[in-house]
Amino acid sequence: MDYQALAELLFPDVTDTPEMLEARYPARDLPEGAVVTRMAPSPTGFVHLGNLVMGLTAERMAHQSGGVLFLRVEDTDAKREVPGAVEVLINTLKHYGIQFDEGATIDGDSGNYGPYRQSTRAAIYHVYAKKLVSQGQAYPCFCTEEELTAMREKQEAAKETTGYYGAYAVWRDRPMEDIQAQLEAGHPWVLRFRSTGSIENQSKYDDLVKGKLTITENNVDHVLLKSDGIPTYHFAHAVDDHLMRTTHVVRGDEWMATLPFHIQLFKALGFRLPKYAHIGPLMKMDGTSKRKLSKRKDPELALTFYKAEGFPVKAVYEYIMTILNSNFEDWRRANPNADATAFPFSPKKLNPAGSLFDYAKLVDVSKNVISRMDAETVYSLLLEWAKEFDPDFGARLEADPDYAKRILAIGRGGRKPRKDLATWKEAKPYMGFFYDEYLEAPVFDEKFSKATIRTVLEKFLASYDPADDSAVWFDKVKAITAEIGFTTDMKAYKADPDAFPGTVADVSTYLRQAVTGKTNSPDLYTVMQILGKDRTVARIRAVLAGL
Ligand code: GLU
Repeated sequence: MDYQALAELLFPDVTDTPEMLEARYPARDLPEGAVVTRMAPSPTGFVHLGNLVMGLTAERMAHQSGGVLFLRVEDTDAKREVPGAVEVLINTLKHYGIQFDEGATIDGDSGNYGPYRQSTRAAIYHVYAKKLVSQGQAYPCFCTEEELTAMREKQEAAKETTGYYGAYAVWRDRPMEDIQAQLEAGHPWVLRFRSTGSIENQSKYDDLVKGKLTITENNVDHVLLKSDGIPTYHFAHAVDDHLMRTTHVVRGDEWMATLPFHIQLFKALGFRLPKYAHIGPLMKMDGTSKRKLSKRKDPELALTFYKAEGFPVKAVYEYIMTILNSNFEDWRRANPNADATAFPFSPKKLNPAGSLFDYAKLVDVSKNVISRMDAETVYSLLLEWAKEFDPDFGARLEADPDYAKRILAIGRGGRKPRKDLATWKEAKPYMGFFYDEYLEAPVFDEKFSKATIRTVLEKFLASYDPADDSAVWFDKVKAITAEIGFTTDMKAYKADPDAFPGTVADVSTYLRQAVTGKTNSPDLYTVMQILGKDRTVARIRAVLAGL
């Protein structure tokens, strides 16, 4: 067989050579040990937590080593393509702080190793396809869908491994005349890899996450180019990651099964194999067993979920770090204020079987993260969230920034900051009462008489002076307690509750409910200071009028 002639026959328009491409995309000028890696998502319109897990792993590996992170859009599957999906993808990754050094952007490409959208790289793939054909390492296959189905059914019936291999690879060694006849008849063809591997052969491979693996050689003649000339994932992966000078591939472990083929393909193409980090799926506990997070069952798989709930990006980031590297939490405790990027991340610490996702833990991490922010930061992040997801609340926050910041400053700073909020969505239930529009009427416990509550509120108004410090303020509350025959001795009360009609805690609750509408709130003295005298007094009067 004259492979050169076959290559010309199949790719008459390809005039570029691999050498030209090698020269166009030279080796990167980076220091020893610098990792060049990428995110290579398919734009399906759905960006999930798994994308972020892989993205952050890749990002850390690249930037921690002084290397490069780029974004390649794998848009070769037109059937799955959703309009606007690339934009959603890029914006979502950006929202989560994944900074690409080069690659696809909303306004096109940036970087010297593009184009970065696979749909625009057909000419490049064809150069290498032609090379493989000319070396006898790839050939056209004219099998129809029906023929392939019939073949598979036969293999299944005979309990054989399914696939296009061995004697089943019917176009592997067909004479030129047969190929010419098919082409002349205008029959569609795919380009297949000519595998010289045998499943008898095994070798060792060391994956960055999975550790030592035993690889069984591939003997299947996989498809490289589909009948429309578009490459399969496998072929595009080899060509792109070679020409883009990727040193490390971080990807989902669903690609492990075809790793033997990828190893073979890189070799056939004369490319140096990158290092692989195959990431396991995200798991969650379902009752007592673990299962993969599912798009259908688990809303928390979608990244839009975290944005809508109002988890700060930083919280999601830190949470992912805690599930990827189990020593992150200890590091964070020892370095409470350090930037998370100072943490020495290692792909080797990832759980090979997949990380366990735990919502309660995320909430916990997020509370810590928010508690460490200053009021200014909290204000701007909350406002950004509210403008999109609760515009009415957003407008109120924006109408008086100083007021909002004073509220948000409650319990911040110091060694033990309060942990009131895990998400921005929780902010309105937490602080809404500061705004008259969101204030709810109090519902007093029925065990207390309205007359007692009225007396307390009236006495408070009579003695209230906003110039008091918190100690004086509380002395006055205690004085009222004594005047109505309630106790301030909580110990004595606890020992014998029936001996007392009520306590200072009840008196505080009446006041709290009158001023905030709720039985729980941040420190009431501080609340009154922020509300100011007029608003505090007006609220108590309004409650009195309704009693
Ligand atoms: N488009 C592939 C995916 O989304 C990329 C895998 C890779 O990173 O190589 O699974």
